[in-house]
Amino acid sequence: MEKFCVGKFTVEPGDKLQGLLEVVNSDLTMPVTLINGTRQGKTVVIASGVHGGEYPGVEAAIRLARELEPAQVAGRIALLHPVNVAAFQAKAQYISPLDGKNLNRSFPGKACGTTTERIAYTISSQLFTQADFFMDLHSGDIHEGLIQFVLYPAGAGEDIAEASRAAAALLGVPYVVGSYSANGTFGCAASMGVPGFLGEIGNLGLWSEEEVTKYMSGIRNVLKSLGVLDGEPESVPTPEFLPRMLGLNAEQNGCWYPCVIPGQHVKQGDKLGEIRDYFGQKLGEYFASQDGVVLYVISSLAIMEGEPIVALG
Ligand SMILES: [Zn+2]
Repeated sequence: MEKFCVGKFTVEPGDKLQGLLEVVNSDLTMPVTLINGTRQGKTVVIASGVHGGEYPGVEAAIRLARELEPAQVAGRIALLHPVNVAAFQAKAQYISPLDGKNLNRSFPGKACGTTTERIAYTISSQLFTQADFFMDLHSGDIHEGLIQFVLYPAGAGEDIAEASRAAAALLGVPYVVGSYSANGTFGCAASMGVPGFLGEIGNLGLWSEEEVTKYMSGIRNVLKSLGVLDGEPESVPTPEFLPRMLGLNAEQNGCWYPCVIPGQHVKQGDKLGEIRDYFGQKLGEYFASQDGVVLYVISSLAIMEGEPIVALG
């Protein structure tokens, strides 16, 4: 059995530590729980709160961090809850209030970059380097309505993609969707040889007991499938596997009027919504480029050019 070393922390086998992990070259810290089990096994990293207004995953990680004990664990678990404290406290959607950057577009990060890039670098250099599996717990942000789904790195090579997809199917959400993003959390982990996924449970900046419990039981399922916790994963309904997510971005500034809701099935050519100016004049219309299910819809009336408005799976 080996020590579990992350940043300034060293955790002996059979020990658990809760503390503040220092972000490299900054005054920032991240609340972390490190559990070093009593038996050999895999190392699993669980991140929450990468975005500021996504709560069910943060609360699920806080509760799991308190509940899980080394005697139950074969291997090691690191939980971050939340990663992006400044964005969490500011209730900032997508971006950090410190540098205006989206942490989920900033991986692997830079040791001497902006604060968001330093957070990414801390995670990729201190945790992904020793991880065997990575879970990133997201939700619909304060302005995002969504149906529950999970993204996995479909373009990361067959072995990593398949390990990620199989684990993602145990989360208990209805859609498992391929992703080809490379500069996000799990895409970066996959490029470093670590399978994983990004869960989306909950939306609109809300959180409920049901969503938190769902995340917790899904994570326990995955930990069981990896052999980190004892027991067989609970059976969950078989999800629908979708090859990729098609995101649509706004092409105008103004007001956004969607005409679909999360979970709705659409046909190629169906209207998804329109953007109007502040006088009610139509500026642009948006249509489905192919058949699919609506994974998320932006709920805010305000919209800016370049921002996501709808994603289809
Ligand atoms: Zn997010």
